[in-house]
Amino acid sequence: MSTKYDVIVIGAGPAGYVAAIRAAQLGLKTACIEKWKNKEGKGVNGGTCLNVGCIPSKALLDSSHKYHEAKADFDVHGISATGVKINVPSMIQRKDEIVKQLTNGVAGLFTSNKVTSLFGTGKLLAGHKVQYTDHNGKEEILEADNVILATGSIPVAIPVAKVDNDVIVDSTGALEFQEVPKRLGVIGAGVIGLELGSVWSRLGSQVVLLEALEDFLAIMDQQIAKDAKKIFYKQGLDIRLNCRVTGSEVKSKGKKKEVVVTYKDADGNEQKEIFDKLIVCVGRRPFTDGLLSEDCGVKLDERGSIYVNDLCSTSAPGVWAIGDVVRGPMLAHKGSEEGVMVAERIAGQKTVMNYDIIPNVIYTHPEIAAVGQTEEQLKANGEKYKVGIFPFAISGRAMAANERDGMVKMIAHEETDRILGCHIVGPSAADLVQQVAIAMEFGSSAEDIGMTVFGHPTLSEAVHEAALAVNGHAIHMANRKRR
Ligand code: FAD
Ligand code: AMP
Repeated sequence: MSTKYDVIVIGAGPAGYVAAIRAAQLGLKTACIEKWKNKEGKGVNGGTCLNVGCIPSKALLDSSHKYHEAKADFDVHGISATGVKINVPSMIQRKDEIVKQLTNGVAGLFTSNKVTSLFGTGKLLAGHKVQYTDHNGKEEILEADNVILATGSIPVAIPVAKVDNDVIVDSTGALEFQEVPKRLGVIGAGVIGLELGSVWSRLGSQVVLLEALEDFLAIMDQQIAKDAKKIFYKQGLDIRLNCRVTGSEVKSKGKKKEVVVTYKDADGNEQKEIFDKLIVCVGRRPFTDGLLSEDCGVKLDERGSIYVNDLCSTSAPGVWAIGDVVRGPMLAHKGSEEGVMVAERIAGQKTVMNYDIIPNVIYTHPEIAAVGQTEEQLKANGEKYKVGIFPFAISGRAMAANERDGMVKMIAHEETDRILGCHIVGPSAADLVQQVAIAMEFGSSAEDIGMTVFGHPTLSEAVHEAALAVNGHAIHMANRKRR
């Protein structure tokens, strides 16, 4: 006899595990199936985000930042730090410990919320049935009134640079280097390429990022992207735009190996570079391998994502899909919010999600963060808007911290003054942009932020001043009304 649940979730990444917890909180009998095994071969929850994504990358970004600060920035404060060394295996081990704590944390949350945690693979069959195969190959058919598909995404592979997990790695392999590569190539100067390139550059690698597109960070507000590019060049990141990688060859060099990468430069000429390691960061694709039986009724869209409507319903009744495996930005928090929405919908609530206000962050130093629409998007849509900018170079708190690079750019509707977007490159940009996201969720105007009392001295004051600047009222700089 098959076991019957109210909800079965397939995939325990930030989309799936959050959906499972919320469903169980609402009194639904819930199981969550996860196929991930950690380095020790043990089944773990948390998906890409906790195991090889958001969390481990931030652990390495924070470690490498501290090292770099001690080497390069302490002097300014009158602190001399000599003999500062990095122990790469210890740094990697610390990262692994954090991952372990958090994945164990999800297991604990499953227990306390009474989610049945099943390790192995799930396959959706017709009629809300799920074929569950555990890690020993034992099969069981489970049944549920509702099934939530949350199988996430995997790195895109390109034939011109095949990952060998030795010299050529993807984002997962780049979190495991045991020593600092002398010369490091990165294919793709997108979010992940910039973060991983920054980690190893701060630790001493000479990093070259090869990016096929002409525009740097094409999806970001271009004024912010241009400023960020200048800052990264100053930091020594060698970002080469309009350069498409066309081939790679791994060669032995004495006891070591290296990779010769060929690419077409901006003038169409073929160029060669030699690296000790090469990271392929050309994006991620939705993962549905082995997930769907032919007769399960779930359709994919033209990009290979599971097709869903605004409420994350698939084309099969009672089957939902959330997170990276469906349309929209591949961000952990986007999937988690979809998880909450779907669980609450299953429980009969009328929850909807606001896809217009999803913050997006690149955790370089300084950080780049955005919410809402860019100036380019507004122009393309023929919207009337006004802009306020405040540079960190004149923020008292930023000066005190020696973090003077970057700016806050606030965009509001020309007539209603309602905030349409905020784009920041600068210290703690991720946390600053979240303040604006909250304001936008409440339909705030730039004037509302301008009228809010901000603590002094804070980095947040730059958000305040940018909001004031939207209407030409900034206090701590000369106002240049741009309309
Ligand atoms: P996933 O996290 O991919 O989880 C899906 C899970 O489903 C996996 O554990 C997989 O094993 C499991 N699964 C798949 N098929 C089956 C099956 N048939 N049966 C059982 N289980 C199955 N996002 C951010 O928001 N902020 C960041 O700072 C950030 N940094 C990142 C850094 C890196 C290096 C990478 C690679 C990604 C980063 N991301 C970041 C993206 C983020 O990790 C993803 O958006 C997020 O993990 C997607 O969540 P998900 O639950 O949809 O899928
Ligand atoms: P993201 O989607 O943010 O992860 O960024 C991936 C980046 O990789 C995109 O900006 C692509 O333009 C870039 N890219 C994809 N293929 C290649 C290639 N062959 N050579 C260089 N860059 C590439």
